[in-house]
Amino acid sequence: MARREAPAGGPGSRALIVDVIRSAETISRVELAEKTGLTQPSISNIVRDLIADGIIHETGSVGSVRGKPRTLLAINPADHFGIGFELGPDAVTCVAIDLTGGVVGREVVPLAATGLTDQLAARFDDFTAGLDLPRHRVEGLAVVAPTARPGRPGAFGDGEAIGDKLRGRLGIPVLVENDAAAAALGEFWSRRVSRDQSFGCVYLSTGIGAGMVFGGALFRGASFDAGELGHLSIQYDGRPCPCGNQGCVERYASMTAAVDAARAHPGLAARLRLDGSVSAAYDTIARAAVSGDEDAFAVIEEAASYLSVAVTSMVNLLDLSRIVLTGPGVAVAGSIYARRLRAHLARTAHARGRHEVQVELSAQPRNAAAIGAAALVVQASIAPGHSVSPRH
Ligand SMILES: [Zn+2]
Repeated sequence: MARREAPAGGPGSRALIVDVIRSAETISRVELAEKTGLTQPSISNIVRDLIADGIIHETGSVGSVRGKPRTLLAINPADHFGIGFELGPDAVTCVAIDLTGGVVGREVVPLAATGLTDQLAARFDDFTAGLDLPRHRVEGLAVVAPTARPGRPGAFGDGEAIGDKLRGRLGIPVLVENDAAAAALGEFWSRRVSRDQSFGCVYLSTGIGAGMVFGGALFRGASFDAGELGHLSIQYDGRPCPCGNQGCVERYASMTAAVDAARAHPGLAARLRLDGSVSAAYDTIARAAVSGDEDAFAVIEEAASYLSVAVTSMVNLLDLSRIVLTGPGVAVAGSIYARRLRAHLARTAHARGRHEVQVELSAQPRNAAAIGAAALVVQASIAPGHSVSPRH
């Protein structure tokens, strides 16, 4: 589908219709016309094309006020799939999703330090073969990592232009994307968030990233660098950051910062074994925090307080109506972060008298970036008007 000519009615109308059907779950043609402002003939033409392409299908009918039953339309989940790979420091998380955002397969596989393209190409073949997904039903692959951006080679360890090489090897569309931006789109897609919401997603890991979805599309900025929440300074003369700034919230609220704080705490460091990787040490602290260890709770609570200040600034700057917290940092102790953020927003959000800011936790925080990568593929293929990587 990604290789198709632009459909009649324009890619924007097609993207709009797909997005409204996705967020509504099921909807009639009449309601589609009401919600999109498009004419009935336009709706009929685009819906016909989408059914022919296997993207949507008719699914029963409901009675209407004037008696004639209305046929309902829904996204057709079983026809096409997107594959997402999230590159971690020593493993790749592989996810396949259907067109509704439902996860149909997931695995985590160790990654060697060199020969990334070969490894990922082999991984793609094994993963899709294991799920019995023939190549023609796979819309593409997206590879995400913290430093990756569309059209920017060298974001991966050995400097390979991974997108170009994999595209040549696999013969399918391959996107390269930032993990937090991908996670935002994945949460937007799988939660059926409607495109009229101002949606933000905070990705808490060893660093901190964010993604924003406005009008159904990721907000990218001038160079795909939008969403660098971790480098929002919360203290002008605060801790120095490798980015050149001081007081970046990442230096206070990331998993790395929480582990540093716990290791510097004599009681905690002696009580909990914190000598492994940052991820392992952080999970130990988070588990202790939710199991009643007061010192561990204080460490997480402090990180959550710093993060709440930065996220509230993001909410105020963009007037967001809905925030999802995701990433490995909220997998165990997410409730502490969500509670802290809700309390801070209720007290200080600028628009608090006008609308609520929903704060939600991701259902799959450890897989959110890989799921989001797969969602990017799905969105780029079925709603091409919202292409998120114009340089490809
Ligand atoms: Zn910084």
